[in-house]
Order: sequence, then structure tokens, then C-alpha cells
Amino acid sequence: MPSYKAPLDEIRFLLEDVLNVSQLAALPGYEDITPDVFLAVIDEGARLCEEVLAPINQTGDAEGCHYEAGRVTTPAGFKEAHQAYRAGGWPAMTSAPEFGGQGLPHLARFVFDEMLCSSNLSFSMYPELSHGATMLIEKWADDELRNRFLPKLVDGSWSGTMCLTEAHAGTDLGMIRTKAVPAGDGAYLLTGTKIFISAGEHDLTDNIIHLVLAKLPDAPAGTRGISLFLVPKILPAENGGVGTRNGVRCASIEHKMGIKANATCVLDFDNARGWLIGEANKGMRVMFTMMNGARLGVGIQGLGLGEVAFQNAVAYSKDRIQGRSPLGARDPSAEADPIVVHPDVRRMLMTMKAYTEAMRGLAYWVGMLIDVEERHPDEAKRAEAADLVALMTPVIKGFCTDVGFEITNLALQCYGGHGYIREMGMEQFVRDARITQIYEGTNGVQAMDLLGRKVPEGGGRLAKRFVDVARSDLADAAGNPAIADIAQPVADALTLLERTTGALLARALHNPEEIGAAASEYLRMFGLVAAGWMWVRMAKVAAERGGARNDARLATARFYVARLLPQTVSLAAQISAGASTVMSIDPASL
Ligand SMILES: Cc1cc2nc3c(=O)[nH]c(=O)nc-3n(C[C@H](O)[C@H](O)[C@H](O)COP(=O)(O)OP(=O)(O)OC[C@H]3O[C@@H](n4cnc5c(N)ncnc54)[C@H](O)[C@@H]3O)c2cc1C
Repeated sequence: MPSYKAPLDEIRFLLEDVLNVSQLAALPGYEDITPDVFLAVIDEGARLCEEVLAPINQTGDAEGCHYEAGRVTTPAGFKEAHQAYRAGGWPAMTSAPEFGGQGLPHLARFVFDEMLCSSNLSFSMYPELSHGATMLIEKWADDELRNRFLPKLVDGSWSGTMCLTEAHAGTDLGMIRTKAVPAGDGAYLLTGTKIFISAGEHDLTDNIIHLVLAKLPDAPAGTRGISLFLVPKILPAENGGVGTRNGVRCASIEHKMGIKANATCVLDFDNARGWLIGEANKGMRVMFTMMNGARLGVGIQGLGLGEVAFQNAVAYSKDRIQGRSPLGARDPSAEADPIVVHPDVRRMLMTMKAYTEAMRGLAYWVGMLIDVEERHPDEAKRAEAADLVALMTPVIKGFCTDVGFEITNLALQCYGGHGYIREMGMEQFVRDARITQIYEGTNGVQAMDLLGRKVPEGGGRLAKRFVDVARSDLADAAGNPAIADIAQPVADALTLLERTTGALLARALHNPEEIGAAASEYLRMFGLVAAGWMWVRMAKVAAERGGARNDARLATARFYVARLLPQTVSLAAQISAGASTVMSIDPASL
């Protein structure tokens, strides 16, 4: 069985030394969040993940969810784990104290999420969707809906979902057909079928609150005609408890490649009673609160799976003996050396390590920016943070899940044939990781969001914010002899990215297909440069601190710039090749 130990040293290094988490206490409302408090919460979360959730990850995958006559049962141990999750107060982490929340920083949730995803991705999705639903209701619903639904979501006795997808409408939500008609008393009656709804039905909570996209009878066509409704599985009674069953039923669950312990449901809505959240026909704006949070959350899934796969690959590589080191026997007393002596195995481990640590840095940095965006007293700081979060959301989602999948695959490779069989648990990580590149907007869609929308937005204002932050750190590092050799290749890659962006956007003015043809490579290039910048930041601190662990960080930074960052050069060439290279063949000839 794979094991999981929360990487608390790495987490502390980032929080305390690189990101300086003590800054949070300067934000209004976070005055009590000292680094000690913050880290105590993380330590407690680590225990839950290691002791309760990781042990039921492999069994949950083997058993999967059960469906019978509209009811879904989660695998053995999930109900007890959810009770432990509730008892620890985890559903309340970042919610507003007025609804029973603890009002902790978003950054704390990001760190906890990583550990949740490492220990049990299927389990993590039940509370994560509830968390997203809670944030949406907090931000957009009226007081009556908030008072009625938030306390139960915040205490974890009810859970939430997001219901967007229909059989004929996945990426293109403008085509949804679910209808909402006024019930005459301020509520609406919804009819239609949603598919692929994660955690759409299960036995972990007393009620499930669905956030559903639907169209009013007179709605304009396309995404401009979408409204958002809150539709409970069970209508709350007057006293706030569970009342009568609503017209929503789980018609079936999917049989799928991974995340088997998370129920992926077909939901039939048949005159189900619901309430409008936000304005009529402006539902996409409201849903984006949940979608943006979920996109970052899915990026963290890539990070979490990368971390756990890496940990197990390291342990296995030190244990498994095969062959001898090219330098001669490292352990002459044994029949063979551990495979960690082989440079090709070391290449795989270093790749996993270098990506995982950079992804963590980027994800936590964005988590902290969300707190700044929400609470900083200076409007200019809030605006800067908002721009950076918007820019980085598709990068975190796309880059961290693409790389997370690659890491799980490399980890499996380190196990050889033993990685391919079920017992070791490595193939589960690969299967679980694969969906992260697809849901919450495929990575192709994320790439177009980055290149087609975020980068050109405001005349390049968002991208310039990132370039300014990175350039300032890189200029600083260039004058530091301990890390100048790390900073220079990153500065060169940033210049190449800027040049490539300018040429690409100029070509796109004449041919709109240029964006789609280059977007995926562009997102990868952007992610590689951002990860390089994060390595420079981490290397700076490591060089100041010294010691074996920090020497290892510096060596990993050097590995990153020498072996992974050069992908940017070939990506720039691919992007420059232009749209005609992919579009010249007629579909009939494909
Ligand atoms: C396990 C699982 C859990 C899920 N959970 C949820 C959930 O909780 N709630 C929910 O609402 N949905 C959920 N989904 C749905 C998921 O978000 C969609 O599958 C995803 O958005 C893609 O939609 P689609 O499958 O219809 O693919 P399509 O939209 O048909 O896309 C097919 C391919 O075409 C590409 N493509 C489509 N349009 C464009 C375009 N304009 N430009 C370029 N390329 C394009 C896509 O990138 C993709 O490669 C889940 C799906 C799965 C499998």
C-alpha cells in the first residue's frame, strides 16, 4: 500500500521563509493569524490526512461507490472519515464567523487541500465541492438563503455540488437545456438532466445543495441566457431541519477510469424547487466564483497527487535493488544496489521533485494573493492581487495538472512492472490524475483562457503585473553570486516568453486560429517560466540559510533550470510555427 506523510518541512519552508506568512496578520480580520496559529492548523490537518484519509484511499478505489434505486453508498470507511472531518471543524475553515465559520485565510485552505488531495483525492472532492458552494452562497445569495443554507454547509452536515454539464453541453454551456419556470411564490421549478455531477448523490450528509445552471422561459440564447439556482435535494423544514424530498433524483453513476470512490452522477431534475441566486440571465458570472475556486482546487489536485506519487517513488527507489551503479558497487555487501543509484532513475526523481516543489510555491503564492485581494486596505494592492490571481488561475489549473499527471506516470515508471499492477497503488495515482486535465474546463480551454483572454486583457495589464514581479526578483538575484547562475536562464526564458507573446498576438490579429493553435504550448511555456521564477525565489532563501536541506534545494533549482526550463526553447519554436501547420489538412483527409 502506498504511504503518505505530509511534507511539513517543505510547507513550513515556503510559508515561513519564502512567502513570509506572518504578513497575513497585517490584513484586517486576520490579526490573530500568527505563523504559530497557522502552522498548528496545518499540523492538525496533516494528522487527519495521514491517519484517517490515506488508509482508505486504496480500498475506496477497489470498492468504488454503489448505486441502487437512486441512492448512492460510498465505500467502507468514508462515512466515518467524513464524521472525523466534520468533528475537526474542517468544513468551517475559511467561512465567515457569522455563519459558524472560523474565518481562516484562503492560504490555509490551499495548504490543507494539498494534503487532502495527496491522501485521498476521491474523498477530498466531497468537501471541496461543498466549500465551493459555500463560498458562492456567501458571496452572491440574499440574506434569507444564506441564513437558511450556510450554517448547515459550514458545519458539514449538508454538502454542495456544481451542476453545469449536460449530455450535449460540456465546454459549450450556452447550449444547456435545463429549464426553470417561476413557481409563482418567488421560487422556481427546474426540469432537465445534468450529467457528470461529482458528489451529486451520496450517504455522507443529510442533505445535498445543488447549484444548478438553467434557463428561464424568456432567456436570450447562449451563455447570456443562463441563470443560477440553488436546488436542495431535500427541502428544508420551517425549523431549518430536513423537510420533504425535492424533485431531484440520481438516475445512475458513471463507471470510470479513476476517482472511483467519488460518485459521478446523472441527476434528473423534475419540477425541482429552487431559488435564483444573483440576477436572472447573469448566472455565469455567479457560477464563476465557484468555477475559479474549483480551477485552482483542481490545480492543487495535480500538486497533491504529484507529491504523494513522488514520496512513494523515492522510498521505493531506495529500497528496490537491481543492478550496480555505473561507478561500481555502492553496497558490495548486497546482491545489487538500490535503483536510486542509476542516473536514469535519479532523472525521474529529480524531475518529480523539481516540478512538485515549484508547483507548491506557485499555488501557495496564489492562495496568499487571494487573501490580499480580499482584505488588503490599499485598493491598489487589492487590484494588483486580483489581476495576478486572474492571470494565474488557468496556469495553476493547466500546468499543475499536466505536470501532476506526468509525475504520477514517472513515479509508476520508477516501480517498473510493480508500478503497473494494482497492489502497489501507483497505477491508481495515474488513473486518478488523468481526470484533473479534463474537468473544470479541459486544459485546452484553460490555455485559451490564458492566451485569448487573460494575457491580452487590459492591453496586457495582467501579464505585465507578473513580468514586473518576476523581473524585480530576477534583477535582485542576478546580483547575488550564490544564485546568479540560476536566475540568468530564468531571465532569458522570461524574455523569450515576452517576445513569443508579442509575435503571437500580432499574428493573431490577422488570423484568429493562431490563438487556439498555440494556446496549449503557450500555457506550458508560461508555467515553466513561472515555476523557474519560483525556483529563483526559493533558491535565494536556501542560499541564505545554508545546511544540507537547503543545499539540496539549490541543487534542485539548478536541475530545474538545466533540465526542465529548456523546454521553453522548443515550445517557442512550436508556437512560432503558426496555425497553418495544424490547420492545413482538410478534416476529410485526417
Ligand atoms: C469524473 C468527472 C467529474 C465531473 N464533475 C463535474 C461536476 O461536478 N459538475 C459539472 O458540471 N461537470 C462535471 N464534469 C464535466 C466536465 O467538466 C466536462 O467533461 C468538461 O468540461 C468537458 O466537457 P465535455 O466532456 O462535454 O467535452 P467537450 O466539451 O465535448 O470537449 C471535447 C474536446 O473538445 C475540446 N473543445 C471543446 N470545445 C472547444 C473549443 N471551443 N475550442 C477548443 N477545443 C474545444 C475540449 O478541450 C475537449 O478536448 C465532470 C466530468 C467527469 C468526467
